[in-house]
Amino acid sequence: MNNISDIRLLFPSDDGNLTQQNHMMDLIGQIVSGVDELKDPESAFLKGDKERGPLFYKELAETSRIPASGSPMEDVNKELLGLLHAHPYHTKYFLTNILPMASIPGVLGMIAAFMVNGNNLWDVYGPAGAEAEVKVVAMMSDLIGYDTALSGGYTTWGGQGAIFTGLRLAINKASATAGKSGVPQNLYAFCSEAAHYSLYKSMEATGLGSNHLIKIRTNEDSSMDVLDLKEKMEQVIANGGIPIYVVATTGTTDAMGIDPLDEVFNMTERLAQEHGIKRPHIHADSALGGFFAFFNNYDFSGNPLNIQYEALTALKAIQGKMKHLNKADSLCFDFQKLGQTPYSTSLFLVKNGSDLKLLDLDPDETPYVGHRGYGQYHTSYTLECSRMGSSISIYSALLAFGIEGYQRLLAQFVEVNVAFREALQREVPEAVIVNHLNPGIITLFRLYPEGKNGYAEEYAGTRSYEEIESDNRLNEVLFEILGRDRKEMFFGDTKKHLYVPTRDHKRIALYASKLFVISPHTQVSDVGQIVQYLKSKIEETYAEYNRMTKREHKHEEIYT
Ligand SMILES: *Cc1c(COP(=O)(O)O)cnc(C)c1O
Repeated sequence: MNNISDIRLLFPSDDGNLTQQNHMMDLIGQIVSGVDELKDPESAFLKGDKERGPLFYKELAETSRIPASGSPMEDVNKELLGLLHAHPYHTKYFLTNILPMASIPGVLGMIAAFMVNGNNLWDVYGPAGAEAEVKVVAMMSDLIGYDTALSGGYTTWGGQGAIFTGLRLAINKASATAGKSGVPQNLYAFCSEAAHYSLYKSMEATGLGSNHLIKIRTNEDSSMDVLDLKEKMEQVIANGGIPIYVVATTGTTDAMGIDPLDEVFNMTERLAQEHGIKRPHIHADSALGGFFAFFNNYDFSGNPLNIQYEALTALKAIQGKMKHLNKADSLCFDFQKLGQTPYSTSLFLVKNGSDLKLLDLDPDETPYVGHRGYGQYHTSYTLECSRMGSSISIYSALLAFGIEGYQRLLAQFVEVNVAFREALQREVPEAVIVNHLNPGIITLFRLYPEGKNGYAEEYAGTRSYEEIESDNRLNEVLFEILGRDRKEMFFGDTKKHLYVPTRDHKRIALYASKLFVISPHTQVSDVGQIVQYLKSKIEETYAEYNRMTKREHKHEEIYT
């Protein structure tokens, strides 16, 4: 029973009295120290048991009811900490996808935002969020080479929200009537086979339909084949369609492939002129990879941060592609990814802020670009109405890390990944690195039966569909084994790395396991342990796979 005599005690004070301040600090302290007690640096999970059987959610639904009277906050905190038991945690062995730890500056930025709980819908309601948002839009615009006097943007619901808004812009650029009369049915969008599924979803949600999404082949480094893009755009035009949107992924979520934005820009510009159409809107899906633009002004020859040679070479190669980000009409920085802030802190940027006018509900409404007078900042072009002040967290992280802090962190990630690749090739040669052309923070590795490297043939298209499918199954066994033991070390995997042609004229994607360097706590010195662990799991995989295939053969003998 909560014997709160005064319901105000559940709120921060309005006068700053010390009693309530200390009470709140104690409660925050209870959470922070409670999590600390659950930590185990040798595991990828927090301590504590959770039995998540097949009936787990069903039982929760059956038993969860709102209490008639409230509980003391200390008890509620204990319940909250209970939720965190056996939660994945970003120790040195957390090596799965782009799921970062929220940094202290990121968390503090959120707390600052929550203390006033402004609504970023309008600057009068959320002045702190609006101020921080204008600042971070300018900071990131400047970093990538957008003109800060012209660019615009806002924080939104993820990299997916950015892709969706890019598509809305593209539709409204292509058709003056789409907003009122609906979307014309001859509009087409393009992205590579390695792109995130966000665009697929956006096509459905805008009513264009996913049949109007044309997938472009990728090169071996998972980047978009610009020639294939050109041909497919020409086909669309020849059939009476209009290409309106190209999503160029600059940092694919699996292989860290980077589409050549400069080539996409030049090709689409030329194509548009030839055919007398508008150049399609180009959105750089830089949600993940855009952060490597922090190296845009790094002195690679002087190397003031003493970045190890292979990592430096890798960073230089990545930066060489990221420097073209400013060719895109819009792009995104998912700060909840490499920006080190909590969910959801995605920043959508547009090169010409005035483009946002196309999405404004009422043409008389003043978009904020160029009209930043107080009380003028209202975002009627966002799909959200109320918006959290997540820009405050972004602002906090940008100030605390600075360009150099991000460079140090990313360089560490790349150094760990370089060391991992070296050790893996040396210690476990049967695990073939299949994104070897893509340096960065991700390694994809794939097993072949008896350790026979079939990758070159796969890429050359000389293997059959069935052979590749069967090797995919071998890799799936490793996925299962790594998944079963993910409490120890948490790896990722993908079933969509690189579509390859087959001898029998089909196309199939390769399965691969994934190491994603994402925890600041993973050091180069941890790599040996990680590789030894993988080695034992891979041995187990071969043993299990051989048992399985033997069983299948027996089965065939009996039934055929
Ligand atoms: C994560 C990611 C997305 C989706 O972003 P959300 O923030 O999860 O909505 C889209 N594209 C790429 C390349 C990504 O890495």
